Amino acid sequence: MTAVRTNLLDLNPVQLVEYCMGLDEKPFRARQLQRWIHQLGISDFSQMTNLAKSLRAKLADCALVAAPPVVAAQRSKDGTRKWLLDVGGGDVIETVFIPEESRGTLCVSTQAGCMINCLICATGKQGFSRNLTTAEIIGQLWMAEFALRQDIQSTDAAAAEDRPQRQISNVVLMGMGEPLLNFDACVGALRLMLDDYGYGLSRRRVTVSTSGVVPMIDRLAEECPVALAVSLHAPTDELRSQLVPLNRRYPLEQLMAACRRYSRHAPREMVMFEYCMMDGVNDSDAHAGQLVDLLRKGAFPVPCKVNLIPFNPFAGSALRRSKAEQVRSFQKILQDAGILTTVRKTRGDDIDAACGLLSGDVQGRTDLKRRLSEITVCYQDDSGLN
Ligand code: SAH
Ligand code: SF4
Repeated sequence: MTAVRTNLLDLNPVQLVEYCMGLDEKPFRARQLQRWIHQLGISDFSQMTNLAKSLRAKLADCALVAAPPVVAAQRSKDGTRKWLLDVGGGDVIETVFIPEESRGTLCVSTQAGCMINCLICATGKQGFSRNLTTAEIIGQLWMAEFALRQDIQSTDAAAAEDRPQRQISNVVLMGMGEPLLNFDACVGALRLMLDDYGYGLSRRRVTVSTSGVVPMIDRLAEECPVALAVSLHAPTDELRSQLVPLNRRYPLEQLMAACRRYSRHAPREMVMFEYCMMDGVNDSDAHAGQLVDLLRKGAFPVPCKVNLIPFNPFAGSALRRSKAEQVRSFQKILQDAGILTTVRKTRGDDIDAACGLLSGDVQGRTDLKRRLSEITVCYQDDSGLN
């Protein structure tokens, strides 16, 4: 019997070097291993042909490469893909791929459930189960990247020849959970995303989205300053504390100061604010004016861009999406004040893959079987992958 094997997806680039050295191997072996795993999608050590046979045998004995198993996959009419992954103990998490003309974005979960419990969010309503490990976070990218590649190869060999190797050009930690409350595991996964021998993504193409965990925003700036999105949703403390309970702990003045500090480290030196628009709640012209004041206030306005997200309704929520004309009016007020403002297109509506609808079952909350029976396309049927 061997001891518990180390999941190599759990190791960031530095830890993998340490691991190889612990096996009396040279540090460059870590780079070779990383390439096999993260660039070629190989999990079987016997196929890693540039490693000595003795090392392959050693690894087979004490290590493994294991992402959370896919229990179901769905494909939206607009090409959006959603996978449900089983992370054990009755918890299921979700990963979403959004293909666009010029990029392919993967939305990754960081916790099973979420403890912040924002009024607007289906994930929050599920409660919190646990933090995901680095392997479970990077495992989502690993699984999706190679499933998508194989998908293209098996459905359209000619297209596969034409297309660039990588299907996923951008990653956003915007799935289930609050990434900054699972800091170390997220940073481990981010380092693999950025590493040249991992996914080689630039800092601009990797985004952490937070509801505003102020001290951790500063730590992210120090340790791994990728792009930052802050879920704002309201221009005043009074309203924000109702929508995002974390605001009571870290009110807007502290949050804005942290964003200002972060912007000096951020790619393109700015922070993105997400503002989910709900009819009659936070979407009036007066709210837009207050938002302008907040973002432009004082001698040091926050260098930023605002992304307006039409609210995605979900069962059990009385909130409604803002009317399109009100979203436009809100956008105009911000733009007239010189604040770059976009409106997010809603994607994957038909498979509940849109923002805030990710509610993969958390232990004890919903019945996995029922949920799976709602999934129409099974992974194996979908693309011949298994
Ligand atoms: N916990 C992090 C990241 C995950 S939530 C955060 O809150 O930023 C990802 C984004 O989806 C956030 O901006 C969140 O506010 C938004 N969101 C949540 N529920 C939504 C809903 N029902 N409609 C639209 N956007 C929603
Ligand atoms: Fe958690 Fe983000 Fe949902 Fe709020 S919006 S409950 S922080 S996942």
